[in-house]
Amino acid sequence: EYADTPLVVRNLRKEYADGFVAVSHVDFTVDRGQVVGLLGPNGAGKTTTLRVLMGLTQPSAGEIYVFGRRLVPGSPVLSRIGALVEGPGFLPHLSGLENLRSYWRATGRSLEDAHFEEALEIAGLGESVHRKIKTYSHGMKQRLAIAQAMLGLPELLVLDEPTDGLDPPQIAEMRRVLKRYATGGRAVLVSSHLLAEVEQTCTHAVVVNKGAIVASGPVAELVGESPSVHLDVSDV
Ligand code: ATP
Repeated sequence: EYADTPLVVRNLRKEYADGFVAVSHVDFTVDRGQVVGLLGPNGAGKTTTLRVLMGLTQPSAGEIYVFGRRLVPGSPVLSRIGALVEGPGFLPHLSGLENLRSYWRATGRSLEDAHFEEALEIAGLGESVHRKIKTYSHGMKQRLAIAQAMLGLPELLVLDEPTDGLDPPQIAEMRRVLKRYATGGRAVLVSSHLLAEVEQTCTHAVVVNKGAIVASGPVAELVGESPSVHLDVSDV
């Protein structure tokens, strides 16, 4: 079951040690070809949900299936997920390509040269691979961080607030990057606290508030049919 589905989240609950319930009864699915936005105001539980998916924290209840395999700590299926939690620091005097190579070397895994260039190409940095990071704009650095999460072309990419701090042209570029990545049978899950960003960059959205899902579906349907969604996710 779900063997061909990048991500199935069933009845997820996360209660922190202090008793605070950050996420409860969260169910959603991410299919191949989709760019899914996990949308909600600050504190809604987005980062908690993504950290559970990345294997960084344990759920209190519920199940997660990645290509049909139950996600547990150290699970080999984690290698099919590419993750970006927060902007990594890059070395300013090295090029984009050199930064990715040095990151990957530290993982101890091997990867052919062509794969580095492919990730940089998908991230829209094909022409800047040899430029030093100190000449990169904020948007380019953000896309380099995403290229880093794309190394090895994981079938599911999980990104926490990738459009944070980007201007409209940079967001448009990000949309192209994420859609390009999802085509060819891969999938992307991104979090955001801005409806407009999700509208522009995602095919589907899961709207969360206070740890629970309040709406989900194709972006076009959510925006058209549910004006309350705008209110629920207003930037607070
Ligand atoms: P943001 O955009 O601000 O990151 P978010 O939707 O990602 O918001 P989370 O970071 O998942 O939200 O936090 C959800 C709630 O859980 C918040 O109220 C937060 O204070 C709480 N929380 C997060 N980490 C812990 C922790 N380690 N212990 C207790 N409560 C926590």
